[in-house]
Amino acid sequence: MTDNASSPLTGTPLTLLGTGAMGTALGRAWLAAGHPLTVWNRTRARTEELAAAGAAVADSAAAAVAANRLVIVCLLDDDSLGEALAGADLTGRDLVNLTTGTPAQGRARAAWAEARGARFLDAGIMAVPPMIGSPESGAYVFYSGSAALFEEHGATLAVPAGTAYVGADPGFAALHDVALLSAMTGMFAGVFHAFALVRREDIAPKEFAGLLQSWLTAMAHSVHKTADQLETGDYGKDVVSNLAMQAAGNATLLRTAQEQGVSAELLKPYMNLMDELLAQGRGEEDTTGMVDLLLRRSS
Ligand code: NDP
Repeated sequence: MTDNASSPLTGTPLTLLGTGAMGTALGRAWLAAGHPLTVWNRTRARTEELAAAGAAVADSAAAAVAANRLVIVCLLDDDSLGEALAGADLTGRDLVNLTTGTPAQGRARAAWAEARGARFLDAGIMAVPPMIGSPESGAYVFYSGSAALFEEHGATLAVPAGTAYVGADPGFAALHDVALLSAMTGMFAGVFHAFALVRREDIAPKEFAGLLQSWLTAMAHSVHKTADQLETGDYGKDVVSNLAMQAAGNATLLRTAQEQGVSAELLKPYMNLMDELLAQGRGEEDTTGMVDLLLRRSS
């Protein structure tokens, strides 16, 4: 990432559709790095901050698209992208979609854009707005779709946040994004259950938070063993705490929840699936069979 705040606007010119919280943060970073920027937003008042920082404001999405070859879209959802770009001529454009969506939406949007003569990259932002434009924040964006587009504009895309190109399949950026967000969702469920367990006691949440963070960080390393077991197909490899032991321990977790007056409804669905794996005779293995169980039960 570069920071040329005092340099003239010599970077690749680009268009940004959507100046909500995320779009504004992105636009600020490109302007600070010397990229001429044209913006459009449905509600024009929300372009004022970027206009004051030097962006040109277009009267319509179609005019903004016409202004530059590289067009970045950061709108609420896939429907808003469809609405905004309905009347725009995409011929010869390089369209980069930073709007959060599903893998199927990414693939459909790629076909839609290509049919209109554009190259297309879908993306998933792994950051919140305050992290944008700060290399030390660890912010990055998954990209997938046109490798040629990514190669040509990679340096411009790397201005607001790090970049991770995850393949030519335009669904892969959203898939990686949502997979990480789904893991985070499970983690938050556990975190809130843990805070609830100690909440009625004389235990300071701030002190407890430190313990929680260290424990989750230490446990997070186990994802590498899971990956190794998935790749080798040997779920009994290097097992430390086998499924039978973990399932037996669940009784203590549930009884403690009851003693502390905490609903176990965030934990129970996972524990029920552990019992199902156990009933399949997989007690000596790690819990990695959960992956196969989820795939089987959904089909
Ligand atoms: P905001 O709610 O701040 O902005 C939403 C943007 O979408 C605005 O520009 C809004 O325009 C526009 N919009 C909504 N509906 C339509 C429509 N029908 N037609 C045209 N424009 C429309 O959201 P963010 O900027 O925070 O988020 C933008 C994208 O970035 C989302 O996909 C979000 O998931 C993603 N993202 C956001 C993160 C965050 O922490 N904020 C983190 C990671 C990804 P208007 O101003 O007129 O309402």
